[in-house]
Amino acid sequence: MERTVSCYDCGETYAFDARKRCACGEPLWFDSDPDGFAWPETGSVDDMWRYADLLPVSDPVGVAPGGTPLSRAERLDDYAGCNLFLKHEGQNPTGSFKDRGSAVGVRDAADAGFEWVGTVSHGNMALSTSAYAASADLECAVFVPAETPAERLELIARHDPHVFTVEGDYGRLYADTLSLPVDVNFVNSDTPLRVAGQKTVAYEILEQLAPAAPDAIALPVSSGGQASAVWKAVRELDRAGLLDSVPRLYCCQAAACDPIATAYRNGDRTVTPVAADETIAVSIANSDPPSGTRALAAARDTGGAVVSVPDEDVRDAMRAISTRAGVSVEPSSAVAVAGVRHLSRTGALEANDDVVAILTGSGYKEDYDTEVRTDTIALDDVERELASIVDT
Ligand SMILES: *Cc1c(COP(=O)(O)O)cnc(C)c1O
Ligand SMILES: [Zn+2]
Repeated sequence: MERTVSCYDCGETYAFDARKRCACGEPLWFDSDPDGFAWPETGSVDDMWRYADLLPVSDPVGVAPGGTPLSRAERLDDYAGCNLFLKHEGQNPTGSFKDRGSAVGVRDAADAGFEWVGTVSHGNMALSTSAYAASADLECAVFVPAETPAERLELIARHDPHVFTVEGDYGRLYADTLSLPVDVNFVNSDTPLRVAGQKTVAYEILEQLAPAAPDAIALPVSSGGQASAVWKAVRELDRAGLLDSVPRLYCCQAAACDPIATAYRNGDRTVTPVAADETIAVSIANSDPPSGTRALAAARDTGGAVVSVPDEDVRDAMRAISTRAGVSVEPSSAVAVAGVRHLSRTGALEANDDVVAILTGSGYKEDYDTEVRTDTIALDDVERELASIVDT
């Protein structure tokens, strides 16, 4: 079957080649044919390749991403203001949802005979792309911003890619790499192959909750690649007749860097770059999101919204997730839960709404300057010390 990509905005269709954006300027995504698609049999593959029929490539590469748990987080309901479900994307092989897109992108690059793949990233995607490139015996070039934390660089370097730390405008770097006249297949955050792989997180959520669809899905948004993927998946499953209702998509950003939320608040149709401040949510600090306008359309089309939350709310949500759900996430992931809390407080979400927050990345990758309190005691005092806290 010929593979085609199309534009969500103007509807133009192209045969798939190196082209990543429509003549109108908007990003393209892969066409798939959901007519007749049904949930796979129980007992068949339970990772992302379960949905190979809806993907542009079907052969796995490396450690299969996906099949991550969806848990009901009752102890966070009060905090979130709704019935909260958590999708644990930190359990993917390199600790974030990026693996779903890397697997598809790297598979396709290998099939097409490329020797090199590349990516532009704040860390998680560089780590993921490097790992999948290693598994496929491809060389990998990663470009990271100068302020990328040292712990992240060290994790990336374990897979032996060529790492370039780049000073200068991240948005331009991203766009430039997609049209460089070199034989490096760039699988940046909103390219058609990456978005195709990342659809599988939404297929999983909706299959895990089937036959009832959740009222809403909330996720942290940077480039808009994942939001686009979730929207695409929802549209396909709706077309396949597998949804009793279409979940509202809520895109959540950090207030210090919130170009999509700004456009949403202003009622704009397109997203324009903003001047950004620093935020602890480093993985989603993109002031010039390449799929921002598409993410905005995803939120509006499904009856959702785009919100932004201050860093103090992000820290608070991180703590709540750790202490009430037993899950450690990175700050960027906590933005989704902080966003849900904000949406409940402003009335957009209600107490009986079933809401899925996508916890995009693991908190076990770096330290977050949290103060740790311990009691140092003598060995002989263990019993007395323990009794003193247990009894009171
Ligand atoms: C990349 C990333 C995001 C944002 O995804 P986009 O597709 O760029 O919008 C959110 N959370 C984490 C942990 C990420 O690594
Ligand atoms: Zn177009």
